[in-house]
Amino acid sequence: MSTVADRTSAPLALNGGPPVRATLLPYAHQTVEEADVQAVVDVLRSDWLTTGPQVAAFEAAFAAQIAARDAVAVSSGTAALHVAACAVGIKPGDEVIVPPMTFAASANCVGYQGGTVVFADVRPDTLTLDPACVVAAISPRTRAIITVDYAGQPSDLDELSAIAERHGLLLIEDAAHALGATYRGRPVGGLAHVTTFSLHAVKPITSGEGGVLTTNDPALAARLRLFRSHGITRDAHEREVAGSWCYQMVALGYNYRLTDVQCALAKAQLARLQEGLARRRQIAARYTQALRDLEAVEPLTVLPDRDSAWHLYVVRLRVERLRVGRDEVFRALRAENIGVNVHYIPVPWHPYYQRLGYRRGQWPVAEAAHERLLSLPLWAGMREGDVQDVIDAVHKVVHHVGR
Ligand SMILES: *Cc1c(COP(=O)(O)O)cnc(C)c1O
Repeated sequence: MSTVADRTSAPLALNGGPPVRATLLPYAHQTVEEADVQAVVDVLRSDWLTTGPQVAAFEAAFAAQIAARDAVAVSSGTAALHVAACAVGIKPGDEVIVPPMTFAASANCVGYQGGTVVFADVRPDTLTLDPACVVAAISPRTRAIITVDYAGQPSDLDELSAIAERHGLLLIEDAAHALGATYRGRPVGGLAHVTTFSLHAVKPITSGEGGVLTTNDPALAARLRLFRSHGITRDAHEREVAGSWCYQMVALGYNYRLTDVQCALAKAQLARLQEGLARRRQIAARYTQALRDLEAVEPLTVLPDRDSAWHLYVVRLRVERLRVGRDEVFRALRAENIGVNVHYIPVPWHPYYQRLGYRRGQWPVAEAAHERLLSLPLWAGMREGDVQDVIDAVHKVVHHVGR
């Protein structure tokens, strides 16, 4: 039997030693159970494949889960962001403040509407949008703030709401990582003007592809529904129920609908949200405990007034304590068959944004963090042995490349 000491002092797999595990442990993986399969099969045998009763049932369950008045299901998290940008009226000439430490979609929705993205830096401890940087980025053309609950930890929603209120701005919360998170005792989803979620396969619950918007504003909810479906005022199911053929197109909308098949899957997954969150929280606590003695590895700060949904377990490497950089640590962990990842490349560094004229060096916190970031595997279906493999592999690599 190999001991932990054997596992961590053996030569690195990168240098021809035995890897910590035989097969790659992915950084994220969906959990699909028999009840999910049955829910999908039932819909395939029903009369409605899309825009039928499953959509409304999923939306009602989702809204209840996060205590928001309305939930609107759409075809992806990106569609949700686009619909939000349409519904709040982003237009050419408008500026929207977005953090650079996010997935590109958080910023792209502004461009879809012809608006201008103004990147504002993040807090060094949590890597969520820094309210002071938001204030500094406000101009007479600013119309909205898009805040991102990075890694699953809610951003500073009270401070950002107060800034939005004071300057007459709209607050859009990209909570793609944060379904099930709470902020000062309140669930994420009813705290900004509009909140967006993703149901992509790597996210906390999934319908393959999918997204949801939530809001407490009924007029805004009606506009979200409008842009989801061609800017048409009544959908097919409502027409069927009302027995009427009449509809009107009143805005330039899209087909961003989520199917009944997907909504059935999403609703079955939603029923296990709390179970999945509890497991993620448990794994995160194990990592935090087990990495405490490694000075080269610094987890993100978790603030006491909020509960993360633990979409990602992000660490920053103290590269001054290592003989190599992040990229080498990344390669060494991958060779050990640990599917680490990097979230994210700062959005303005992407060639598309570089061509638009964004220049590096304006977001020192996000840009410095990026060079040191690693996400460790974290998903609800991980077994105890998987968690131990990650811990052992991190210890092994740091043992070999530490100063
Ligand atoms: C996943 C993600 C999105 C986009 O969601 P899709 O469903 O993949 O379109 C947007 N923002 C963030 C922060 C994400 O992680």
